[in-house]
This record gives sequence, C-alpha cells and structure tokens, in this order.
Amino acid sequence: MADKVKIGTMWLGGCSGCHLSIADFHESLLDVLELAQFEFSPVLCDTKYDEVPELDVLIVEGGIRNEENRELAEMLREKAGLVIAYGTCAAYGGIPGLGNLHTVEELTTEAYINSVSTYNDAGIIPNEDVPSLESRVRPLYEAIQVDLMIPGCPPKSDVVAEAILTLLRGETIELPTTNLCEV
Ligand code: SF4
Repeated sequence: MADKVKIGTMWLGGCSGCHLSIADFHESLLDVLELAQFEFSPVLCDTKYDEVPELDVLIVEGGIRNEENRELAEMLREKAGLVIAYGTCAAYGGIPGLGNLHTVEELTTEAYINSVSTYNDAGIIPNEDVPSLESRVRPLYEAIQVDLMIPGCPPKSDVVAEAILTLLRGETIELPTTNLCEV
C-alpha cells in the first residue's frame, strides 16, 4: 500500500470557523483518511510547533495579523510541499482585514481602553508575551508562497472535501465559480 499523504492544518489570523468545515467532512473524512493522515493540527494533535514533521500538504486558515502569524507561516512553509490558503481570511485577509481601515495604535486603544466591554481603569496595554500586531493584515500569499487558494467564509465542507480528495488522487482541482461559502 502506498504511503499516505501527510497533511497538516494551521490557524493564523482567523476565527477557527474554517477548521469547523473540515470537522464537518462527515463520511468524506473516511475517504480522505484512506489516502492521507493528519500529522499536525491545532485541533487534532498535541504537537508542539517546534516538533512539526515534514508535511506533503499544509492547509492554512487565517491571514497574517501579528508577528506570531508571520513566523509560524514562514516556519510551516519550510515543512510543507504544498500550501493551501484555506478560507477567505487566508486568501484575501477576510474580516480581520477590516482592521486595515485603522492604525495599529487605534486598534490597540479600542481593544484595551475604549471598548464598552473593557474594564481597565489602570489603562494597561500589554506589551509582553503578546505578539505585536503587524502594520496591516495581509493575505497568506503576501507572506509566503501559496500553491492553492480555497476561499469561503467558511468554505463549504463538501467543496473542500472534494477538493482535498481530488488533490490526493493527483487530479486537477476545479473549484466552483459561484458561492464557496458555507452559509
Ligand atoms: Fe473565520 Fe470566515 Fe476567516 Fe474562516 S474565512 S477564519 S470562517 S472569518
């Protein structure tokens, strides 16, 4: 039996909703697992970032919002043969990209000082152990080489499952040209 394709998934500047689309593969997951195995995923494995194995396919949710996103993307790119920008945030910046309408200082002040749900009488803005925001949100392809984009917010589970299966079979992927979103 041929070796299974090694798949990893990662979330960066997103909401984890795209990973739920993978969880919703239902019976298609069994077809995927006949051809591939998940070697690394923040929702499936307890692998530390510095122990990520070599991967054939890396599925990345979310864009680049902070320096940790960028460093992880660069590190994982080195590990992966093929990288998929998965979901609208990874492909185009998505909802976090709305932050590009404001400066980092405005965003930080709103989050830690001004928002109605914030109780921060001391006016403390954490600057240690919190990754710094990059100057703007960027889609994944602006930080690392991306081989395939599957947009959608989140992408439809059946479309993603079919795309992954097509990829695993070594066939050409043809994504729908209409709505790719789950809802
Ligand atoms: Fe969440 Fe939508 Fe971004 Fe996916 S594309 S991470 S579902 S906001």
